[in-house]
Amino acid sequence: MTHPREDALLRSIEDRRDELVELTRALIRIPSVNPPGDYYRDCAELLGERLRRRGFEVSYLRAEGTPGDSDRYPRWNVVARRAGSGTGPCVHFNSHIDVVEAGEGWTVDPFAAEVVNGRVYGRGACDMKGGLAASVIAVEALLDAGADLPGALEISGTADEESGGYGGVAWLAERGWFSKPRVDHVIIPEPLNVDRVCIGHRGVWWGEIATQGRQAHGSMPFLGDNAVRHMGAVIEALERETYPALDDLETTMPVVPEGARRPTLNINSIHGGQPDVTDGLPAPVVPDSCRLVFDRRLLIEEDLDEVKARMRGLLDSLVQSRPDFRYRLRDLFEVRPVMTEADRPVVRATVEAVGRILGRPAQLVCSPGTYDQKHVDRIGRLRDCIAYGPGILDLAHQPDEYVGIDDMVASAKVMALSAYALLTRAAGHTPG
Ligand SMILES: [Zn+2]
Repeated sequence: MTHPREDALLRSIEDRRDELVELTRALIRIPSVNPPGDYYRDCAELLGERLRRRGFEVSYLRAEGTPGDSDRYPRWNVVARRAGSGTGPCVHFNSHIDVVEAGEGWTVDPFAAEVVNGRVYGRGACDMKGGLAASVIAVEALLDAGADLPGALEISGTADEESGGYGGVAWLAERGWFSKPRVDHVIIPEPLNVDRVCIGHRGVWWGEIATQGRQAHGSMPFLGDNAVRHMGAVIEALERETYPALDDLETTMPVVPEGARRPTLNINSIHGGQPDVTDGLPAPVVPDSCRLVFDRRLLIEEDLDEVKARMRGLLDSLVQSRPDFRYRLRDLFEVRPVMTEADRPVVRATVEAVGRILGRPAQLVCSPGTYDQKHVDRIGRLRDCIAYGPGILDLAHQPDEYVGIDDMVASAKVMALSAYALLTRAAGHTPG
């Protein structure tokens, strides 16, 4: 069934195609690279001043004292709110304004925002300045459509997602910016592909295992104790026990790509003995220490404490079976998995809008890596949060990153329809 007002809204988004491209380009041209967290204020003001002119109440918030915050690299966030005509629920679009470093291998200038063959190129085009621009255009078109909107609209541009979100969404969520009664529904326009609605993400545990030995002359290793050989035993135990066990878990999480529907364990690095010698000869020494950093990704069915206990159990069994084996296990970083229910209003409204705009059913997915939903869920205690945006997930963080203009326009339409449905729905229908 179609609606004259919705049809007009969709046409008006079509008409803003060039404006959408220009806003995306303006955002990409600000090299808000993190680390170190450059140009956050410029990005926040581009967004904030534009929305202020559209009647939004705009707050600039510096996450003082969070990791990386300094007078040289202040962690600026912007939140813009436009009150509704009544007491309907609030729909919030949250985008991170930071991008990862450009890196090598580009065939275009990563911050020139060139338009080639219907695509905008640049660092952050897909992750996620294209999605941010699409949400702004969606909201502006919705306001111009003249419909009565009982609920409030919010748009935020937040810092530091690429480094954990502690100076961005986490900091704001701790201060109530992502909780009821202020906010009811959150849509994060991360690049998960234009026809997918992302309901959550896997968890993370980064840890470090260190083994200890005793230094001795390399010609008489029997006088020492080799820490690298101890680490070899750790890796062998991981291969023998941990990796096969990871494949046994069945999950209800629709993670894409499908390989990530199992828990994964990556060994990020291993360092033992003397530093790499590139000229001259190495010293003949038995290494007395070895460190290994791993990255374990968890599914919703897994309990982080149990996962840690199993790792400790594996290392303790080596203490039993291997002479002189000593180890240290240290936590570096952790995030518990999150997944919202498929029947939440924000999921239903977005799925419906995808079907209507793209003419094919939306795919419900979960992300293999984390994004700011964790903070909305864990700190803000708001379950009604999804990621939906244009851009191809695989292109994020790569050289020659781009976002397709057709996808941006389609996603802006989806966001506008979804927000319209949520804003005009009676507040009482929102489950807690
Ligand atoms: Zn992102």
